[in-house]
Amino acid sequence: MSEVRLRFPPSPTGYLHIGGARTAIYNWLYARKHNGKLILRIEDTDAERSTEESIKGIIEGLEWLGIDWDEGPYFQTQYADEHVEAARKLLETGKAYKCFCTKEELDAKREAALKAKQDIKYDGTCRNLTPEQVAEKEAAGLPYVIRFKTPHREGVIGYDDKVLGRIEKPWSAMEDFVIVRSNGKPLYLLCNVVDDIRDRITHIIRGQDHMTNTIRQILIYEALGAKAPVFAHMPLTLDLKKAKISKRSHGEIVAVQFYRDHGFIPWALVNFLVLLGWSPGTDQEIFSKEELIEAFEIERINKSNSIFNYRKGDPKFFTDPKAININAHYLRTMSIEEIAELARPFFERAGIWDTAFEGERREWFLKVLDMTRERFHTLVDFTTEGRAWFSDDYEFDPKALKKNVYKHGELREWLPALADILEGTEPWNAENLEQVLRDYAASVDRKPGVIINAMRAVITGQIKGPSMFEVLEVLGKDVCIRRLREKTPKIFEMKG
Ligand code: GLU
Repeated sequence: MSEVRLRFPPSPTGYLHIGGARTAIYNWLYARKHNGKLILRIEDTDAERSTEESIKGIIEGLEWLGIDWDEGPYFQTQYADEHVEAARKLLETGKAYKCFCTKEELDAKREAALKAKQDIKYDGTCRNLTPEQVAEKEAAGLPYVIRFKTPHREGVIGYDDKVLGRIEKPWSAMEDFVIVRSNGKPLYLLCNVVDDIRDRITHIIRGQDHMTNTIRQILIYEALGAKAPVFAHMPLTLDLKKAKISKRSHGEIVAVQFYRDHGFIPWALVNFLVLLGWSPGTDQEIFSKEELIEAFEIERINKSNSIFNYRKGDPKFFTDPKAININAHYLRTMSIEEIAELARPFFERAGIWDTAFEGERREWFLKVLDMTRERFHTLVDFTTEGRAWFSDDYEFDPKALKKNVYKHGELREWLPALADILEGTEPWNAENLEQVLRDYAASVDRKPGVIINAMRAVITGQIKGPSMFEVLEVLGKDVCIRRLREKTPKIFEMKG
């Protein structure tokens, strides 16, 4: 059997979109599963819209996701001569022809067809020009496009789509389509096929939005004497209102970069995107790389569109909740060293990175990440909700203050008094601290929860968290005492 070869051919006109990333991932999975090759080919023929920045962004996005390729990046513009040469070959072999119809003529015909409620397609005026007629028009300097000569046949033309099954179109609906513009530039439709032939592509997994091209492309393969690859068209990704997700209507949440910047673990995003349009046929939702490569089948790509479940407004669920939950799963189960590595840039960005986290405070740092990750959803949470672990400069959750501090005005005196008692607490461990807190609560005739919750609000700024006795132990005596003394009066001043 010949080598399985797939490609990811993005047009570099923007950032890497999650829909594009999903396409890349499916092609990559198939290539990996069949010991094949994945080729990265940048389709940069649209010079006006292609940018260097976009190329860089796409490559960085793929690298961040861990989607590796075996060949490329190749650039479509490098092969411009080949595209022209293919058109010439099609002309030479009578598979294409020069069409001198002007825009005005075509518009008039289109309008007439529209009025007569006939199909709007090219009527083949230039299809049977004699070589002399063509030469004459060329000599007169008339501009022309090159059209593909669609064979006139009875019945239907079609192909077996790996996802959608048999796709057919009546031959009568086919027209002689343009493959080279009047400025001599081959159309994308043709370039794409020429490149796929050169790159010996065997399978094409792409969005259903490209299906309008597929049958015409299959005709081009045939005309160039090449075997068409296997096609698999994936469903589109729609929002809850069934609109295609796009930057214009959904903003940055459609960019892979957004997930990187919002504390996603790369593989968690891959895992989520794969499930957006593919299902393993079981309830399994979490897949290691090896498991996914093993489980992936083109035939299990969904036929119907996938829904990106996102509602604007909830800051906790800033994207599809399933994506966040999958990310949280990885955050809580990956090795703590890996989490530390992934979290580091967020600490740096928040200005709370300490080189000692990789030195003498390493063990402490890992312990804190491990203690806190259970409640967190993204890597950013360590530096927002978890900020008080690493800095005295943290914010108080207003709900925590309202519920657990302001309700008991006496805390203004109690907490600093407790700080004095804690100063003499030895050894400083969770067990002892629990006893001290319970004794103190009894001495002021309150439930322990009143004291414990208030301390959590003051010392961590939060309403919830790990066991407070352990928090105190791990944060250390100095920090806890200092905060009880200094933050308590400030909090009551804030109340006014
Ligand atoms: N360059 C096209 C795109 O970015 C890909 C077309 C194809 O997969 O054939 O949508």
